[in-house]
Amino acid sequence: MSQDPDVIVIGAGPNGLVAACMLARGGLRVLVLEANPTRAGGALGSEEGTLPGYVHDVGAAFFPFARASPAFADLDLEGAGLEWLNMEVESCHPAPDGSVASISRDLERTASELFGPEPRDGDAWRRLASWHRRVERDVLGFLLRPLPTLGPLLRLLPFNLLRLARILSSSGRGLSTRLFRSEAARRVLPGLALHVDVGPDDRFGAGLGYMLGLSASTGGNCVPRGGAQRVTDTLVERLRAHGGEVRLGARVTRVLVDNGGARGVELAGGEQLRAARAVFANTGAPALLLDLVAREHMPGRIVRKMQRFPRGWGAFKVDWALSGPVPWAAEVARRSAVVHAGDSIDDLQRFTDQVRGGALPDNPYLVIGQQSLVDDTRAPAGGHTLWAYSRVPPSLPGGWSAQAEAFADRVDARIEKLAPGFRGLVRARRVVTPPDLQDMNANLVGGDLGGGSNAWHRQLIFRPVFPYFRYRTPVRRLYLCSSYAHPGAGVHGMCGYNAAQIALRDLG
Ligand SMILES: Cc1cc2nc3c(=O)[nH]c(=O)nc-3n(C[C@H](O)[C@H](O)[C@H](O)COP(=O)(O)OP(=O)(O)OC[C@H]3O[C@@H](n4cnc5c(N)ncnc54)[C@H](O)[C@@H]3O)c2cc1C
Repeated sequence: MSQDPDVIVIGAGPNGLVAACMLARGGLRVLVLEANPTRAGGALGSEEGTLPGYVHDVGAAFFPFARASPAFADLDLEGAGLEWLNMEVESCHPAPDGSVASISRDLERTASELFGPEPRDGDAWRRLASWHRRVERDVLGFLLRPLPTLGPLLRLLPFNLLRLARILSSSGRGLSTRLFRSEAARRVLPGLALHVDVGPDDRFGAGLGYMLGLSASTGGNCVPRGGAQRVTDTLVERLRAHGGEVRLGARVTRVLVDNGGARGVELAGGEQLRAARAVFANTGAPALLLDLVAREHMPGRIVRKMQRFPRGWGAFKVDWALSGPVPWAAEVARRSAVVHAGDSIDDLQRFTDQVRGGALPDNPYLVIGQQSLVDDTRAPAGGHTLWAYSRVPPSLPGGWSAQAEAFADRVDARIEKLAPGFRGLVRARRVVTPPDLQDMNANLVGGDLGGGSNAWHRQLIFRPVFPYFRYRTPVRRLYLCSSYAHPGAGVHGMCGYNAAQIALRDLG
C-alpha cells in the first residue's frame, strides 16, 4: 500500500477479514496485519498435519451458520466459488449401550426415524423444529445483529417471544427433560452446549444447545470443499477485490493512541504504521484493553474487569489419518457429519464438573468430525481424515507435555468403544494441546475456543464488558471485532460485520 491505510485490522481471523471486506467495500483503504507468518484465517484454516495428502482443519470445521449468516450472504462467498457440502445426517449422538439419536435437515425423517428410540420424542422434535423453521430468521436477527435488536424482537411478539424466553431461561437438562423422554434424545441438546463451556445444569444454559441443534436441522453442519482454509481464502480474495491487503508475519504489540483516539499500531520489531481513520482489533478483549493499549488510556474499571476476565475451558484436539471410514457400531453415525460422544446427561454433567475442577475428564465428551466422508479432497484415495476435540482444563499441574499422549489414548479408547476396529485404521495421529492452540493463535488463550466464557452473564450486553457491547472501546476510533465481542464464538463473521457497520456510520 503506497499511502497510509484508512483502517488497520489487527488479525486475519474470519471476523477480522469480514470487517476488512466490509470496510474496503465501503471505500476505505484497509490493511490487515496477521501475526501468523504462513497463513491467514486464525482458527479457520487447514493444513497437512499428519501425512502428505491428508488435509486437517486446524480449528473450526463445521459451519452451522454458513448459509444463515447475514455477513456471508452479503459477501456472497458462494458466488466467489466456495462450495458448502452437507451429509445425509448432520449430528449423531450414539452411546455404548447402543442407543442413538440423530438430527438431519429432513424434518420428517428426523422425527419419524432418527430422533431416538421413543416415538413421542420424534413428535416433540417435529413440533420444536417446525416452530424453529418459522421463527429462525427473527431469532437469528435478534441474536446476531448489533444490540439492541428491537426489530426482530418486536416481530417475535408475543407468543414466539415467550416461547423463546422459556427456552433461553432453562438449563440444558431442564429443557431436554421437559421436551423428551428417552435418554438418547435428552442428551442431544445439552451435549451440543458443551461445544463451549456450558454444562447441562448451568442456569440459562439451554440457548446454545438449542441454537446448535436446531441450526443443524435447517442449514446443517456444512463443510467447505477443500477444507476450512477455503473459507478464509475466499474472504481474502473478496478483500483483495475491494483493494484491501493482508500482511502475514506482522504481530502487533501496541496500539498507538493520540488525544484519546487510535492513530496506528506498532509491530514486534518496532515498525510503526499509521491508520488515517480507525484501528480494528480481531484480538482477545483482555489482550487489547490490557496489553495493546497503554494503561493510561484505559478507565480503571475496564482494567479491573479485564484482569478478572472469565475464560472458557481449554480445547484438546486430535487429528487422525485413517485407512478407511470409522466403523461406528451405530450405522447412522457412518452417514453423519458430526458424531458426539456423551453417554447421558449425568455423564455430561460429570464431565463438566471434572473440567471445572481442573481435572482431565476420565470419560471425555467428544465432538468428532468426519469431513472426508463428504469431501474427497481431504485425503488420498481410500484414506479418510478424522477430527475431534474435547474440553479440558486450560493448564495441568505437571504441564501438558507429560499427559497429552496418554489423554489422546483415552480419546482413542472412547471412539473405539463406539466403533470397534477404529484403532486398527489409524495411520497417523496428531495431538494438539491447549498451549499448542495458543501458540498457533494468541486469541486461543489456554485453548479457549469461545472468545472467553460463554456463560449467560458473558453474553449480549455483557460481552465483552458493559457498556462496550457495540464494538467501540474507551479509545476513540478503536473497535473490537473478534469473537470476544457480541455475538461471540463460531464462524459467522458477525462480530466483524457488525463492527464494520457501526464504524462506517461513526466515520461518516
Ligand atoms: C479446535 C477448535 C474447533 C472449533 N470448531 C468450530 C466449528 O466447528 N465451527 C465453528 O463455527 N467454530 C468453531 N470454532 C470456533 C471458531 O473457530 C472461532 O469462534 C472463530 O475462528 C473466531 O474468529 P475470530 O475472527 O474472532 O478469531 P480467530 O479465528 O481466533 O483469529 C484471530 C486472528 O488474529 C490474529 N492475532 C491475534 N493477535 C494478534 C496480534 N497482536 N497481531 C497480529 N495478529 C493477531 C491471530 O493470529 C489470528 O489469526 C473452533 C475453534 C477451535 C480452536
